[in-house]
Amino acid sequence: MKAHPTDIDIVTHEGFHLVQGYGYSAGPVWLTEGIADFIRYEYGVDNIGSKWYLPAFIETQSYKNSYRVTARFFEWIEQKVKPGTAVLIDKELRAHTYTEATWATLTGKSVDELWADYAKNPELPLKYSGKERN
Ligand SMILES: [Zn+2]
Repeated sequence: MKAHPTDIDIVTHEGFHLVQGYGYSAGPVWLTEGIADFIRYEYGVDNIGSKWYLPAFIETQSYKNSYRVTARFFEWIEQKVKPGTAVLIDKELRAHTYTEATWATLTGKSVDELWADYAKNPELPLKYSGKERN
């Protein structure tokens, strides 16, 4: 916090881990962290002020990179595939019913198929909360 005193939305990310409450046993860690950063993107109050952005897609990424890479993938799914998917995945994790098959049940495609579609057309309008600081 000393190095990044304006990074208020670390609380949004870490606070969401409390809300998640399903721990690391309900699903893969990349998913838990990706959802927490997706929530930071959606509900953060000053991502611009802390210079926090979702990184542009590059070929070497994977959805398993976690954090912001996975969060951008979730935002792509929200916009291009099916709105509400992140919330529904979170719901499955909470119920301890999440499996790899959950992706196909919710979207009609496996997570690998979704990622392949994302990699083909990753362009995405993004909108950040907050304001620039001097
Ligand atoms: Zn985290």
